[in-house]
Amino acid sequence: MERESLLTVLMILLGGVALQLIGAWLSTYRRSKPGCEPERAAWLRLWRPLLPALLVAAWLCGWALSQPDPVPDRVGPLVFIVCAPFVLIIIRALLRAGWSLLRSPEPFGIATIGLIRPRIVMVPELARRLDERAILAALAHERAHVRHLDPLRIWIAQFITDLQWPWASARGRFETWLAALEHARDDEARAQGIEGADLAAALVASIRFHRAGSVGPCATLIGDRSALEARIARLLQPLPGTIKDRTPTMLQVALLLTMALMVAVALGEIYGERLVVGPLLAVS
Ligand SMILES: [Zn+2]
Repeated sequence: MERESLLTVLMILLGGVALQLIGAWLSTYRRSKPGCEPERAAWLRLWRPLLPALLVAAWLCGWALSQPDPVPDRVGPLVFIVCAPFVLIIIRALLRAGWSLLRSPEPFGIATIGLIRPRIVMVPELARRLDERAILAALAHERAHVRHLDPLRIWIAQFITDLQWPWASARGRFETWLAALEHARDDEARAQGIEGADLAAALVASIRFHRAGSVGPCATLIGDRSALEARIARLLQPLPGTIKDRTPTMLQVALLLTMALMVAVALGEIYGERLVVGPLLAVS
């Protein structure tokens, strides 16, 4: 059998099993209250369930490096049957990601749209209903979304959440991150001199332009509707002081992940055939 074909099948099988097991395990924990953790911590928590699947994939890549091409092994029908649900989950996630890009945008008051080159769009009627200070506040919030490429990050976050379907805990982590994202952009706007009350006024006025439900891969002023009440109350309080964020930086995470993946590749090259692939193919 062609080595890369067998590698792909094994990645889907073992990566899918790892993702589902971690999804089941994390579902036993209560979801955290939206907006209670820093945005970066919530973003990393969104990705954490993918770590075992990535390590498994790296292990298998290490195994493939030690094998001839084509490999003498072949997989039995049982492996393809077990793989089928994982393939369907991947196809569903891809279709949803594609559909969210193709469908026409839903009505909104003000939002940041565009994955690669985000831009701010605002309904003229909303601008007429807001005073100048509220418009500046709404624009400052959206400019923060533009700076961080948030529409693209929302689209990616939705995709990795869909890869963890059907576990509700994945959806909970996604919503927690969305709430933390809006708090972070509110704080960024206020740190530039915007009054929380002006931002709250813009937020309340723009609600009437949104229908309930998702608005696709765009960052809106409203954000997660379930956390609106707490967010408005927060905006009417003085800006929280700077709290030392102990979350690892993206550079630290990238370095640790690279090291872990390299170790997994090395271990896969040495032990892959003996410990996992050989016994797996023998029983299939
Ligand atoms: Zn927003």
